[in-house]
Amino acid sequence: ETATSETDVDILIIGAGPAGLMAAASLAHLASIPSRSPLSVRIIDKRYTKIFSGQADGLQCRSLEIFDSLGFADRAWKEANHMIEICMWNPDASGTIQRSDRIPDTIVGLSKFQQIVLHQGRIERFFLDNIQKYSRGAIKVERGVLPMSLEIGEERVKVKVRRLTEEEAAPPQVRTGSKNDATDGLFRSNLVGDDYEDQNIARESSGEEEVIKARFVIGCDGARSWTRRALGPEFELQGEATDFIWGVMDIIPITDFPDIRMRCAIHSANDGSLMVIPRENRLVRLYIQLKEVTPDASGRADRSKITPELIFSAAQKILKPYKIDYEYCDWWTAYQIGQRISPSFSHSSNKVFLAGDAVHTHSPKAGQGMNVSMQDSFNLGWKVGLVAKGICHARILDTYQSERRRVAQDLIEFDHKFSRLFSGRPAKDVMDAEGVSMAEFKDAFLKGNLFASGLSVNYGPSALVVKSGDPGELGDRSERSRELEGIHKITGETFLAKQSLAKGLPVGMRVNSFKVLNQACARPWHFQERLKADGRFRVVLFAGNILDRKQKERVEVFCAKLGSPDGFLRRATPEGAKIDSVIEVLTIHSAKRTETELLRDFPDILHPFDPHTGWDYNKVFVDDESYHEGFGDAYGNYGVDKERGCLVAVRPDQYVGWIGELEDFEQLQKYFEGILVL
Ligand code: FAD
Repeated sequence: ETATSETDVDILIIGAGPAGLMAAASLAHLASIPSRSPLSVRIIDKRYTKIFSGQADGLQCRSLEIFDSLGFADRAWKEANHMIEICMWNPDASGTIQRSDRIPDTIVGLSKFQQIVLHQGRIERFFLDNIQKYSRGAIKVERGVLPMSLEIGEERVKVKVRRLTEEEAAPPQVRTGSKNDATDGLFRSNLVGDDYEDQNIARESSGEEEVIKARFVIGCDGARSWTRRALGPEFELQGEATDFIWGVMDIIPITDFPDIRMRCAIHSANDGSLMVIPRENRLVRLYIQLKEVTPDASGRADRSKITPELIFSAAQKILKPYKIDYEYCDWWTAYQIGQRISPSFSHSSNKVFLAGDAVHTHSPKAGQGMNVSMQDSFNLGWKVGLVAKGICHARILDTYQSERRRVAQDLIEFDHKFSRLFSGRPAKDVMDAEGVSMAEFKDAFLKGNLFASGLSVNYGPSALVVKSGDPGELGDRSERSRELEGIHKITGETFLAKQSLAKGLPVGMRVNSFKVLNQACARPWHFQERLKADGRFRVVLFAGNILDRKQKERVEVFCAKLGSPDGFLRRATPEGAKIDSVIEVLTIHSAKRTETELLRDFPDILHPFDPHTGWDYNKVFVDDESYHEGFGDAYGNYGVDKERGCLVAVRPDQYVGWIGELEDFEQLQKYFEGILVL
């Protein structure tokens, strides 16, 4: 007989892959947001270790921006291989592959980061270190812990778990096949059926049991999610598996193929397609279509037929007349492409959420899975954390599903199209209707690049995103324009959020980054660097030309309201806490730096005074020339009028929530009243 203990926790995360670790990191970063008691967070994983090689490796711009807001983008940036160019190889008239195009891997000017590759194990390492640092050791991944049952009650979600022995928690893994006996990743691929079933382990193991009573549960337990199954059949993934089977090998190649250090998309005339991804440490990843392996009647391929030799000989054929060989293989696997999505990402109680591969799966080639999975839980983490802390209304939790399911749907559509174009045989000429047009492939690749950067995400209207059009701009006030006028989706308030005041800051999209200078010390900053993922909302005051008397008056009137006891800023700040602890006000002005003075020209509330530490010198910035790093032209790039400026509300995850004039204080107040418990 085993004893069952009971423990209370605010948030339980199931699964410590990229999605679960991002959830834990986001929550660890809320530590400085005031609350009556610190958030208690636990994260469990049934496996005994994190992964060490293989699996996901592509990091898109948006993921790096998020890492930067958490404080570890520099580690990934230094260690990774940087993806600069994509080369396309296609058959010529005689059927021999030749380089047909070169395009930049990341669209130029999109972000301060470009796409890089580094294997998932390293990224998990960075997360673990970051979580340790920001939670001061309070949040630790508990490994070898298997959930057994989940029950959603009025107040709490009860999850019964069992501790596994090391042996039970280490998945069976084949270590044969490649030349140097490399690790086989098949055990985590979707070709593996039920040979590592939780139920079997649960039945046989006799470990200690515990009932975790959580206010919120986040299921990040991967494509075969236990949490998803526990929520019921209505959460099952829907979609299709296709016939294409792909092998993946991470090798150090010995080859005369000229573009082996470039990202390449290679379509051979008759032997299938190959993707080359140059990696860190001389490694190269090959994604190879396996034409010889086809699914059986049940739709699954016989994985015993899949060996590294088979995968590699397919690569050799595609690359002909070039030669390729290897002595060292780091990892290999195979998978079947399928695009599937869960109808729902959260339980109707808003107490249990699913994120990452648990709710969407698709082919890995577009390098999206890990990125989109982390971005799901980055979207969710602060929302759940701030609701648990009593800072935000529980209704904001609805926006998790409304925002992220749309992104997953777009991803699945993109992957569907991209996979078919990639897996298809190249068309011989325009009359070859069954073949894939290489012009169409290139076009999809170019368009896909924007999507694949993660920067095209545009969240729809909600309590957190007030979208509207200026009535003046819209002209006739038809049905459609009224819709655009911005009805607050939850409070029902009518808003006049004014996109035209900052055309380069689309509401619903992440704040792009341009350089501004600190007014007090002239140091250039990428503005995004000031938007840390610490759970705080931000009001960005584009103060315009502060040296103009009239404009200065407008700024002063706004600041007087901002500082008043019944304004949202003071009401959002708990008794005794610093004025910037829940909402931080950042200013960017457009006058000359050398003609302005922080203390003389800017109301105190924009650089608050603390009797112990003096004025805050890190809140007022100027859009001016720097000595060493040029001119960011933030006003020009954000599309803000240099004289009049505007107001922008930014969510804790860097997405723009609202835009208005300096006179629109009441609108801004309503925005925050809809979100924060004031
Ligand atoms: P997972 O990484 O699957 O993590 C789930 C975690 O939950 C695991 O640690 C698991 O042990 C744990 N778990 C599972 N069940 C339970 C349970 N019952 N109880 C407790 N814990 C449990 N993505 C990219 O972005 N770029 C790429 O280049 C890329 N390449 C890929 C290549 C391959 C070969 C494969 C297989 C995938 C690739 N992906 C890529 C996809 C990427 O690996 C996944 O999308 C990503 O890992 C999903 O993260 P996740 O946290 O949602 O799930």
